[in-house]
Amino acid sequence: MAKRDYYEVLGVDKSASQDDIKKAYRKLAVKYHPDRNPGDKEAEDKFKEATEAYEVLSDEKKRPMYDQYGFAGVDGMDQGGGAQYSHAFHDFSDLFGGAAGGFSDIFDSLFGGGFGGSSSRRGGPASGSSLRYNLRISFKDAVYGTTTDIHFKHNETCDSCHGTGCAAGSSRKTCPTCNGMGQVRTGAGFFTIQQTCPKCGGRGTIIDKPCTSCRGTGLQEKSKRISLKIPAGIDDGKRIVIHGMGDAGENGGPSGDLVVIINVENHPTFERNGQDLYCAIPLSMAQLALGCEVTVTGLNDKKLPLKVPAGTENGHLLRIKGEGVPATSSSRAGDLYVKVMVQIPTRLSTKQKDLLSQYLELENPPTEPKLIPLSQFEK
Ligand SMILES: [Zn+2]
Ligand SMILES: [Zn+2]
Repeated sequence: MAKRDYYEVLGVDKSASQDDIKKAYRKLAVKYHPDRNPGDKEAEDKFKEATEAYEVLSDEKKRPMYDQYGFAGVDGMDQGGGAQYSHAFHDFSDLFGGAAGGFSDIFDSLFGGGFGGSSSRRGGPASGSSLRYNLRISFKDAVYGTTTDIHFKHNETCDSCHGTGCAAGSSRKTCPTCNGMGQVRTGAGFFTIQQTCPKCGGRGTIIDKPCTSCRGTGLQEKSKRISLKIPAGIDDGKRIVIHGMGDAGENGGPSGDLVVIINVENHPTFERNGQDLYCAIPLSMAQLALGCEVTVTGLNDKKLPLKVPAGTENGHLLRIKGEGVPATSSSRAGDLYVKVMVQIPTRLSTKQKDLLSQYLELENPPTEPKLIPLSQFEK
């Protein structure tokens, strides 16, 4: 498939300012991000196309090359390859709509950090990746809160080389390919282009003897177990951000965060709406007509007395005060609502049949009942 013009991809004019380009890309990135379009190949392609266009047009070196020579001018320059894309997706999805507040807040930090990786290429400090941890918890734990151990792996600064990547006693040396410039010129037909040095990745120095523990990466993977406090009343989809618990940064950059995403299991009996819990209770016509007192078992296995007033109608919600989600510093304690469902007996003993027949005679219902609208029934 022929490549579309980068300006066309972003829907901006050739004279667009950096701000316009950024805005246009932001819009497309939000729309086509794979996290928002899972399994949608077309959206993924559009996202990649927009990202590639943005990487070129937002770069003060690449944009003039592209303007002058088209795709040939930027081909082979350090555009994000497949591996970087997947890394970017990873970062993106971790931070998308995260606790920091909004997409726009994190957008800039992504471009300074892992996304595109320009700063690490220059050898400056680079933030570590944020990690996503999906934590499944029971309905009950979400309501009452709990403390749970979570187990994960992250990259820490290598103990042996303290992150330099160099073996003990050695240090980085000037890159022989670019003589420390970080850029190389390559001839391509009638013009030459300046390219990031493939040997040192633009840093200008290379590791002489790599650290044996981390093979020169400066990072080492470590297993971690931490105790995480889940507050009472946490909702499905909520995130708990543990700052600095993601991957270590490079060259003195800050560590990423560990973002724990809460996934609450369903409960066989109870449902939740905010602070309140809901369930239903089957009761007989006689219990509802005469009123009764029953005992029900709450979510926390607590025995709760429930008074059913005489004349309670089918579908009526009975409230047990304070037996929903416990109060927190920011919200009141919820209630437990029990919806009444009348049970009609299908198998009657002879005596029950006799009694009900006698009752029916006394009740003497009309033989032509008046019809009512459905809405009145479902109230
Ligand atoms: Zn090391
Ligand atoms: Zn070099």
